[in-house]
Amino acid sequence: MMKKLAITLAVLSLLLLSAHFLRYGQWGLCFSIASFVALVFYRQAWLRWVLIVVLSVGVIVWADTWLNLVKIRMAFGQPWSRLSLIVGSVTALTAIAASLLLTERVRTFFNRDTQLAVPLAIIFGLTVLTLSFARHMASLPILLVDRFFPGWGWLQILLLGLYATWVGKKMIGNDTTSRLRPKIWGFFSLIFFAQLILGLAGVQEMLMTGKLHLPVPALIVGGPLYRGSGFFMLILFTVTVLLVGPAWCSYLCYIGAWDDYLCRRWKKRPKNLPSWLSHGRVYTLILVVATAIALRLWGNSAGVAVASAAIFGLVGVGVMAGFSSRRGMMVHCTAYCPIGVISNLMGKINPWRLRIDRDCNQCGACSKVCRYGALDMKNIEQRKPGLTCTLCGDCIASCKDSYIRYHFPGLDPSVARQAFLVVCITLHAAFLGVARM
Ligand code: SF4
Ligand code: SF4
Repeated sequence: MMKKLAITLAVLSLLLLSAHFLRYGQWGLCFSIASFVALVFYRQAWLRWVLIVVLSVGVIVWADTWLNLVKIRMAFGQPWSRLSLIVGSVTALTAIAASLLLTERVRTFFNRDTQLAVPLAIIFGLTVLTLSFARHMASLPILLVDRFFPGWGWLQILLLGLYATWVGKKMIGNDTTSRLRPKIWGFFSLIFFAQLILGLAGVQEMLMTGKLHLPVPALIVGGPLYRGSGFFMLILFTVTVLLVGPAWCSYLCYIGAWDDYLCRRWKKRPKNLPSWLSHGRVYTLILVVATAIALRLWGNSAGVAVASAAIFGLVGVGVMAGFSSRRGMMVHCTAYCPIGVISNLMGKINPWRLRIDRDCNQCGACSKVCRYGALDMKNIEQRKPGLTCTLCGDCIASCKDSYIRYHFPGLDPSVARQAFLVVCITLHAAFLGVARM
């Protein structure tokens, strides 16, 4: 009885809230909130927390509307007591619905994936918050759906939030990180380049600003040095590395996904690179920085700069096709890409680490799956991966005794893993929504 009452009140409150936004012509928001009604019957445990938050926000919205409407009626000397009673009742109803969701009886209604309720609710909440913030702050419609159907961006945010929880459920719940990560990463790269191709083909909405630049990661550093402006990508990269360390290179880079695809394509066992190549990225970083500064100082035309960047990018593709695919290793990312070395070095500021337990028997199984060359026997003896580790997590499932794990100061390794994946998956979903040239 109590369960039915709570669910009925929650559904009614959601419908009233969506009708409220419909009254203001916010169709996208109206439809997105109404969609939660269908989601209620999906009975996922994480959804209960999300509903509590949505209805609590609803209480604030109704209370604000209540005050404003009464003030306006009073100012114009119009009767307001009936209106106050109606809107006040809706506010109270929404508050009761939110509080009933906190009860134990209702908790048993949302009985699917209960052990993942908190991480999945956080993933959904963070994804929605990040995208809503980006949408609110951007001076142009940053979400694709808003470009084609103005005001419907809320639906895209809701769908990306749901997608992120689906990924979270698969990756956190089933330890499928090593299988799913390359797929979601490749999916992101596919969407990114599909938008670029469609944009170049004339579909302007697919481009962010219409001012194209080359999709070469080295330009994250080289571009601002040459132009003296355009720091957006550099800031985004820095913030991301501060949040998840070098995982930029294994979850978020649109080009890294190609390297990953090619080095897995022929199912070759990773073959470590010769040691002289380990500093390759330092040399390419020096080359990129020196070239960008020189081109700027000598006032060379933009054409020369674009040609230099294009050659650098094409050589990178050649490295992937010629070396990564043959060695089963991320040769582009670990020996060529200057952003990779910056990400690895800056990642040291970040507290996420991968650690090997003292009890490790040095069987070397983890070493055989690391495509970043970060787990040779010396690294295993030292109980920590080498500099090229991107925290991809592929090695974790390979250790039968779970001696290799994520580490974050003060957190249990399993919680550290969950927290790390929560942040990575949120960033992945947010990038999927907004990353465009
Ligand atoms: S697979 Fe596990 S036991 Fe074997 S070397 Fe790696 S961490 Fe040690
Ligand atoms: S050591 Fe493990 S987490 Fe680090 S790059 Fe290699 S496989 Fe990925």
